[in-house]
Amino acid sequence: MPGKRSLRDDVETVLIAPEELTAAVDSIALRLTEDVGDLNPLFIGVQIGAFVFLADLIRILDFPLEVEFIGASSYRDKTVPGKLEINNDVASDIAGRHLVVVDDIIDTGHTLQALIQMLRKRNAASVRSCCLLDKPERRECDYEADYVGIQIPDRFVVGYGLDHAEQYRNLPYVGVLRPELYNST
Ligand code: 5GP
Ligand code: MG
Repeated sequence: MPGKRSLRDDVETVLIAPEELTAAVDSIALRLTEDVGDLNPLFIGVQIGAFVFLADLIRILDFPLEVEFIGASSYRDKTVPGKLEINNDVASDIAGRHLVVVDDIIDTGHTLQALIQMLRKRNAASVRSCCLLDKPERRECDYEADYVGIQIPDRFVVGYGLDHAEQYRNLPYVGVLRPELYNST
């Protein structure tokens, strides 16, 4: 279609191709099947970025499970690092449930650490965390996810659910945008 804008033109580098993402999701799925396949776990996707990963992941899990989403972010505050803000809570009672928290990327680690802590306090039977991407260089706390897909360098990435200014979530790969696009917003 002439004149149609392509998102590909905004991408400087494709860091992780679709096949590599699929392989990472497959290997996490294998481990989850071993660990929670008999527990009727509740998968909790962290909005919004985890939705593509979660959708791909659950469709290769061949055991009973449930899915919810939670809106959570941690805001930076010099006195209380990683204070958690819940803007959309899970609807079901999680007491006694086996939880698998699914997020797109672990960066400083504050969000996931605070979220897991909060869910444990609600008397979940077990809480596991699962992250597609991991930027170990950026970690500010000693939290590590139980299941990690792919470690990446300290770059701001988009695609496969991850956004920049709410755009680019629909890219089928994970990539880095052209630098001028990060500066403009
Ligand atoms: P943390 O609390 O670990 O620093 O923050 C993790 C959250 O920050 C992720 O769930 C994600 O929403 C956002 N984030 C961190 N790094 C990136 C990145 O490279 N790209 C995008 N789109 N979001 C990121
Ligand atoms: Mg997030």
